[in-house]
Amino acid sequence: MKSKVLVVDDSSTSVRVVSHLIKKADKTPISVFSLTQALDVLNDQASDEFLCAVVDYTLPDAPRGEAIEAVLKYNIPVIVITGRLDNNTREQILNKPVVDYIPKQNAQVYEYLTRLIVRLERNSKIGILVVDDSLLSRNAAVNLLKRHNFITYEAKDGIEGLEILNKNPGIKMVLTDENMPNMSGLEMLVALRKNFKKDDLAVIGMSSEGPSFLSARFIKSGANDYLNRPYCHEEFFCCVTQNIENIENIEAIRRAANSDYLTGLPNRRYFFHRLENTTPSAQDCVALIDLDFFKKVNDTFGHEGGDQVLKDVARLLASHFSQHLIARFGGEEFCVYFQDTPVEQAKASLEEFRIAFSERASWINQQPIKCTTSIGLSNKFEGEIDGMISFADLALYQAKQLGRNQIVVDELQANTQII
Ligand code: GH3
Ligand code: MG
Ligand code: MG
Repeated sequence: MKSKVLVVDDSSTSVRVVSHLIKKADKTPISVFSLTQALDVLNDQASDEFLCAVVDYTLPDAPRGEAIEAVLKYNIPVIVITGRLDNNTREQILNKPVVDYIPKQNAQVYEYLTRLIVRLERNSKIGILVVDDSLLSRNAAVNLLKRHNFITYEAKDGIEGLEILNKNPGIKMVLTDENMPNMSGLEMLVALRKNFKKDDLAVIGMSSEGPSFLSARFIKSGANDYLNRPYCHEEFFCCVTQNIENIENIEAIRRAANSDYLTGLPNRRYFFHRLENTTPSAQDCVALIDLDFFKKVNDTFGHEGGDQVLKDVARLLASHFSQHLIARFGGEEFCVYFQDTPVEQAKASLEEFRIAFSERASWINQQPIKCTTSIGLSNKFEGEIDGMISFADLALYQAKQLGRNQIVVDELQANTQII
């Protein structure tokens, strides 16, 4: 992880504000007051530890932006800050391959810096595909995206675009031209929407055709947005960033809706959603796992103690059954779905888990909390998940009746068997 941000600025007030904003983005600011000092740092410390550098345009030993190129030579993305707000300076800055520039103007603009830094980090894991038959305009878009740390892919027509998209699940956005040989942008859009929904993959149409209602055709065919060429640097990034953030927000909402807040495990809702189209086969089995005398844990150690045990059992389940679907079903009840797993094998791995859990302790206020689990396992299927879970539930009930801290298996064909 790139944890540092270099700050090169001769104004101590500005350094203070910028350093504060960098810390807000969870990064460590390394600040220097001149280009000479910046070079000392860069020659001394590994440049791949720097996520980016925030460079003042005007420095005593670099009065006309010379520091920008000097830092770029170390392959570190540069964000420029400047007191000059004229068009000429803006253009000069953006002609260099910098991430962006921030005018020393007001608090709002400075806040933008924190957002930029957070984005630089996240963008490094996001793929964007540019589809355009013109090498010139493809390069223009790709170079801009690279400045913002995105992983870029290129295709020269719709067919190549679809191929690359299908091979690279990390792609979250497609920027596409319309007029291309073999397959046009709109044709590609219609084809890709069969597999990729708007919430998972953003498509931005691009063209320099002028007012031809192409934007309307793109949007109505499933594009998320449209960008007219020529675009300015800021317009381009505003469009790209907003659409990427939309996708991230939807992902976050989906994650929250599908997982349990306390343990982070998938919840019941997600469990059934995942198995919606699954008909259990004779090789599938399901286990219900319930903590023993958990009420007593709460009574003795408080709710906080109980919560700690729940988090610990969830972590242990996740490490033992990472290959299978796990969920927190209810209060202190968990479920594991074993697909294509012989019941004997599931039983053995559950037994390993049961013993491991009973032998460890959770800790609250330096006090150990010991706890055990009872487990019901079934591979009886009635053609549906619900039926299988009912059998596991009956087996679990029996495990409780028989004294807890054990597994009861309700097997297909064989009779109930206790281990
Ligand atoms: P048994 O061995 O028969 O399963 O007994 P038990 O005490 O574990 O079962 P019971 O169903 O009587 O009690 C479950 C307890 O789990 C009651 C409830 O307050 C507690 N519980 C449910 N959800 C949570 C939670 O999120 N945090 C904490 N701390 N406790 C919870
Ligand atoms: Mg200055
Ligand atoms: Mg219980």
